[in-house]
Amino acid sequence: MSFQQIALEDKQRALSELQEVKELFASRGWFPGTSGNLSIRVGDFNPNDFQFAVTASGKDKTVHTPEDYLFVDQDGKPCEATRLKPSAETLIHCEIYKLTGAGAIFHIHSVFNSVISEYFWDRKSVPVDGVELIKGFNIWDEEAHIDIPIVSNFAHIPSIVPEITERIVKHIPGVLLRKHGIYAWGANAFEAKRHLEAFEFIFEYVYRLELLQRGNR
Ligand SMILES: [Zn+2]
Repeated sequence: MSFQQIALEDKQRALSELQEVKELFASRGWFPGTSGNLSIRVGDFNPNDFQFAVTASGKDKTVHTPEDYLFVDQDGKPCEATRLKPSAETLIHCEIYKLTGAGAIFHIHSVFNSVISEYFWDRKSVPVDGVELIKGFNIWDEEAHIDIPIVSNFAHIPSIVPEITERIVKHIPGVLLRKHGIYAWGANAFEAKRHLEAFEFIFEYVYRLELLQRGNR
């Protein structure tokens, strides 16, 4: 349980940022079939005591209602009396906040991130070489090489958490769930959005390049 008192304006800022991001991502078709979830942290961060606003479970993210979000603590438990349910995947948000101290986490399902996560499953990471958008992660080396981690996608969400703990790397602000989607994070909503966009660009690039190269072999 969290004992922090969060200022009302801090909460309102998080909710309006979430609404803005949700609207934009919905317009890109990034929440198929009510999937995906978004969260923004509020108040002070301590790995054992923090709070965040997160999308409620099972809502259509292409429309706005007063019941779109709720505030939960570091264990994913609601901070105030509500009949809303946090998304089952909220536990993954909790773990990523604990490990990284991030300010925002965005999770979406796309065809490209799902296909790529399965294609590279044997090596448990997606290799990316020298793509300009790697700079979106603040990695500025010329011809940078990165490996984006992929973890198992168990139906039982708590079973995914230890793999997340083990596989997250400091300089890569994202992790793929096999045949499922991506979690991307940043110090705030602006940065998390930039990271997510860079990831999605890279997944489509890797996919298309692989297809072209296969055709030429
Ligand atoms: Zn998901």
